[in-house]
Amino acid sequence: MKMKAAVLDAIGSRFEIREVDLAAPKAGEILVKIAASGLCASDLNAIDGKRKLVPFPAVIGHEASGVVVECGTGVTRIQPGDHVILSIVPHCGTCDYCISGRPNYCSTAGNAMGAGGLFDGTSRLSENGERLNHFLTVASFAEYAVVPESGAVVIPKEMPLDRAALISCAVLTGYGAVHNTAKVKAGSRVAVFGCGGVGLNIIQGARLAGATTIIAIDVTTEKLDLAKKVGATHIINATTNDPVAEVKSISGGVDYAFEALGREATIQQAWATVDVDGELILVGLLKNGATITLDAGPFVNEQSIKGCYFGSANLAKDVPSLVKSYLNGALFLDELISQRVDLQGLNSAFDRLRSGEGARNVLVFD
Ligand SMILES: [Zn+2]
Ligand SMILES: [Zn+2]
Repeated sequence: MKMKAAVLDAIGSRFEIREVDLAAPKAGEILVKIAASGLCASDLNAIDGKRKLVPFPAVIGHEASGVVVECGTGVTRIQPGDHVILSIVPHCGTCDYCISGRPNYCSTAGNAMGAGGLFDGTSRLSENGERLNHFLTVASFAEYAVVPESGAVVIPKEMPLDRAALISCAVLTGYGAVHNTAKVKAGSRVAVFGCGGVGLNIIQGARLAGATTIIAIDVTTEKLDLAKKVGATHIINATTNDPVAEVKSISGGVDYAFEALGREATIQQAWATVDVDGELILVGLLKNGATITLDAGPFVNEQSIKGCYFGSANLAKDVPSLVKSYLNGALFLDELISQRVDLQGLNSAFDRLRSGEGARNVLVFD
């Protein structure tokens, strides 16, 4: 079929909205009409080349929701008409990682993503007979996408699709970092460095976990105001205040510090705010090949550092529970959408994301 997609020809180029071809879903794949796709830092990292995530030319976008149109052979869990959110952690079920209970590290999916294809390495996307690559097996900056069945989770129809899209990446990552990776306990003291899409969801994850002190650190007033709305008990503007000294004076040191920016300087600051026996969780993705230097002193106080990928999310368990939390008013998503854009608005929306403006821009189709 023919469809409109935002094509990115190379690192650093601008999106061009072009008509491309999308082949029918093969066995184990589904065709989804995209409803919404949030603009995430991982998309920006691919555009700017901070991380090499996909071969070009490519269709990117991954924080998506939509309606299933067609199912390939062997698809059993999903039917046409189902509302779904798409995910960057599909799994094959048969590789060593899947068998050992770590499907988020599925090597079939990892290899497919590196090649810019679906599980068999081939692409369903093309333009004038030339291959276009799929971003992280999702490729949702387009009217339609073909994805692996395991990369989609059915959601109830009463869940609004634009807000559902946020759950598929920013919310799962932020909430998951708190609930799955760190397992934050009620009554804890928490500091969050960086209040973008993921950081704000770390904050609300901490609120839902019953943390009593939640300190948000950012450089923009707009994001700090949002941080307060979703659960921060204290905010620190790092352009005018020393975040380490401020966090110490508010809390005496925190049980959990989350870094959501992927920058050495903020990782060092976050590390310096952790109290005895506390933990630093690295949620922000660092540039390929990056190294960090840290003060080794705190290790004697049993302070530790933990990596985090995709909030250690368990799609089958976490997605239904997050949807339920939104529908019963506990999870805030409406507040996180700063702007809705169409395909033509993608370039300027990414310029806003790059300059640190707003929480989440979301691409929507009507
Ligand atoms: Zn993302
Ligand atoms: Zn696998």
